[in-house]
Amino acid sequence: MKNNDLKYDYIIAGSGCAGLSLLYRLLINPVFQSKKILVIDRVQKNENDRTWCFWEEGKGLFESVVTHEWKSLIFKNEDFTRQFDLENYRYKMIQGKDFYDFVLSHAASFENVTFKNENIKGITSDSIEASVETEENIYRSQYLFNSTSLFNPNITEENSLLQHFTGWVIKTKEATFDSKVGTLMDFTLDQKHGATFMYVLPTSPTEALVEYTLFSKSVLPKEEYQSALTDYIKDNLQISDYEITHIEFGIIPMSLAKFERKSDAFNRLINIGTAGGYTKASSGYTFQFVQKNTAQIVKNLLEQKNPNPEKSFDDKRFEWYDRTLLEVILSGKMEGKEIFSLMFSKRSPEAILKFLGNESTIWDDLKIVTALPIAPFMKAGLKQL
Ligand SMILES: Cc1cc2nc3c(=O)[nH]c(=O)nc-3n(C[C@H](O)[C@H](O)[C@H](O)COP(=O)(O)OP(=O)(O)OC[C@H]3O[C@@H](n4cnc5c(N)ncnc54)[C@H](O)[C@@H]3O)c2cc1C
Repeated sequence: MKNNDLKYDYIIAGSGCAGLSLLYRLLINPVFQSKKILVIDRVQKNENDRTWCFWEEGKGLFESVVTHEWKSLIFKNEDFTRQFDLENYRYKMIQGKDFYDFVLSHAASFENVTFKNENIKGITSDSIEASVETEENIYRSQYLFNSTSLFNPNITEENSLLQHFTGWVIKTKEATFDSKVGTLMDFTLDQKHGATFMYVLPTSPTEALVEYTLFSKSVLPKEEYQSALTDYIKDNLQISDYEITHIEFGIIPMSLAKFERKSDAFNRLINIGTAGGYTKASSGYTFQFVQKNTAQIVKNLLEQKNPNPEKSFDDKRFEWYDRTLLEVILSGKMEGKEIFSLMFSKRSPEAILKFLGNESTIWDDLKIVTALPIAPFMKAGLKQL
C-alpha cells in the first residue's frame, strides 16, 4: 500500500539542469530555507553526462564551476573564417558533474530538503494541491516543478529537427591548442545530412572538446560520428597523436511542437527546463534560458505571486523568430549553413549572440534580419504567426 500522506511545500520532479538550478536558487534565499522541498529523480546525478556551453555577461551564479571561458571565437565555412573578440559576453563551459556536485553538496546541509530516487509515473493536480505518483509513494505539494518528459508534446519529422552530436574530449602530449580561442561553428563539412558543423573548444593547450553536430530529422549510426571526428582531427586539426578521455552523445529537440509552461488549470504544475519550452527551438541552447526562468520563478514566489512567469511580449517575439527560422530550415527553403554564414559574414558576432540569447531589442533584431533574404523568412514568419 502506498503512503499517501507525504506533504511538501514544493516538489521538484527531475533533478537535472533545471531542477537543480531552481533548488540552488531557492536555497540561497533564507525565505525558502523553512520550506519543505522534495526533489525526485529516478537516477542519482553523479555522472558527467553532458557539457553545457552558453554565453553571458559578467559572472553568473554558477561561476565557480565554469571549466573554461572564451573571449575569442571562430566562425568558419569554405569562403571565410571569422575570428572575433566578444565585447561583453563570454562563452562558457560547465561540466554536468561539476554542476550536480556543486548543487547537491550545497543542498546536503539543509534539513528542509529531501531527495528521493524514484521513478515518477504520473503527476496531477487539483484546486488544493499537486501530486506525484512514483512506483513507491504519492507525494503532495503546493507547487510542483516538472522537468520530466511526462507532459512533452509529440516530436515528429514534420514538426521537429533533432540536434544530435557526439563530442570527444581529446588530450595531446604536446601543446597543440590555443585555449583562448574557441571554434563555435566550423561548417567546412559535408552538409548531406542537413546543417553540419564542428565545435572545437580547447580548455588548455593539450585538451579540447571536439563535437560533431548536426541539425537533421534523424540520428546517424554511431560509426558516422566516429569517422567524422577521426577525419576532422587528422585532416583539419592535423593532430595524429591524441587520447580520447571522454565521450558525450546527445539529442536535443528543435521543435515547432508546443512545450507548455504549465500543465494544469490550477497553476500548480509548472514545467521547467526543456519540458517547459526553455530549449531554444532554433539553436538547442537551454542552459542560459533555464537560469533566467528559474530566477524569475524564485522572484515570483518571493512576491507571493504564482511562480510560473506569464509569457511576455518579448517571450512571444523570440518564440516567433525561433519558429520562423526553424520553419525555413524544416521546409528546405534555406540550409542552416547558409543562414548562419549570412549572419556571421554580415553582422557583429556580439549582436548575433544578443539576438540568439533573446537579449536584443526590436531595433537590433531588424539589423540581424536584414542580413537574411526576405522571401523565405516572410513566408515562414506568416505561417508561424
Ligand atoms: C549531451 C548534451 C549536451 C548538451 N549541451 C548543451 C549545451 O552545451 N548548452 C545548452 O544550453 N544546452 C545543452 N544541452 C541541452 C540542455 O541544456 C540539457 O538537455 C539540459 O540538461 C536540460 O535540462 P532539463 O533540466 O530540462 O533536463 P535534464 O537535465 O535532462 O533533467 C531532467 C531530469 O529528470 C529526470 N527524469 C526524467 N523522467 C523521469 C521520471 N519519469 N521519473 C524520475 N525522474 C525523471 C532525469 O533523470 C533527469 O535527471 C545538452 C543536452 C545534452 C543531452
